[in-house]
Amino acid sequence: MALIDNYFQKGKIMGKAKVINGKAYAERLRSRIAEAVTHLKVTHNITPGLAVVLVGDDPASQVYVRNKEKQTAEAGMASFENKLSADIKENELLALIANLNGDTAVHGILVQLPLPDHIDSGKIINAINPDKDVDGFHAINVGRLTTGNKGMVPCTPLGCLMLLKDQFCDLQGKHAVIVGRSNIVGKPMAALLLQESCTVTIAHSRTKKLREICQSADILVAAAGRPQMIGSDWIKPGATIIDVGINRVPKEEGPGKFRLVGDVDFSAAAEVAAAITPVPGGVGPMTIACLLKNTVTSTCRIHGVEEPIIAS
Ligand code: NAD
Repeated sequence: MALIDNYFQKGKIMGKAKVINGKAYAERLRSRIAEAVTHLKVTHNITPGLAVVLVGDDPASQVYVRNKEKQTAEAGMASFENKLSADIKENELLALIANLNGDTAVHGILVQLPLPDHIDSGKIINAINPDKDVDGFHAINVGRLTTGNKGMVPCTPLGCLMLLKDQFCDLQGKHAVIVGRSNIVGKPMAALLLQESCTVTIAHSRTKKLREICQSADILVAAAGRPQMIGSDWIKPGATIIDVGINRVPKEEGPGKFRLVGDVDFSAAAEVAAAITPVPGGVGPMTIACLLKNTVTSTCRIHGVEEPIIAS
């Protein structure tokens, strides 16, 4: 973290590239969200509520959920925690979702993934009321996004788009290459960039000539989960790099110590790119901020109230 802060203190320049400070952007966004929440409370007597469902005791999921709940409360929203044992039956979880769908104090429902193997994640996600699906994973919201209709947009790609829009007045005509085709990052990112009139290429583990394809990108979104896979010779000079990857790798100074790196070799890429997100401190903080933003959106839609403009 100290290293990243150092880059920022040096005037946001690392090598040739501007370092895109997602942490600071997300902080500003969260304070705008808190203002919107106050407005909803004071003007409409509505308190946005987010219900989080955590099944089992996966340590990483516990950390994510704790952060989400903390930031929900800090934004002035109501946070409803539902911690369930790993051996909960699928029909019991479906019953909980049905209760949350019917609870008027709950405007957003988030089921922390992954779920245990005996539970069909798709079935659970698609049981959430699409209007409360603040993760944007419900098939109806996927359809709305791909057809350009108003729905809920998955938080990580939404955060990436906000950072990109902050870099460019206009994304039109830019060649965006997305490495990764998952339902939670790659595919919705592609749909969002298509809506912005980018020319979009989606690459994945079976893509041939991946390096050459990346070299043609004006915007490169790396979401493969492969530590530092993308080196400087994969990058077109002057490109903007959004590194979604979060990978834990051993630290040089001894066993048992880890650090986080992205899918991009940050310091090498920064010599070639025009702008780049660091890991940590880039896309990561935007994800939770966008979850809160989506909860404000769902609250306003459910109550038929005009949505406050939330921009950093
Ligand atoms: P995933 O495993 O579901 O998908 C990875 C995708 O990358 C797949 O489509 C696969 O085809 C592709 N891929 C894998 N190896 C590849 C290779 N060598 N070359 C080209 N493509 C390859 O992962 P995901 O859930 O989409 O997450 C991707 C990364 O983003 C992970 O590191 C994850 O931790 C991170 N992530 C970060 C955030 C955040 O908030 N910053 C949110 C979600 C995911």
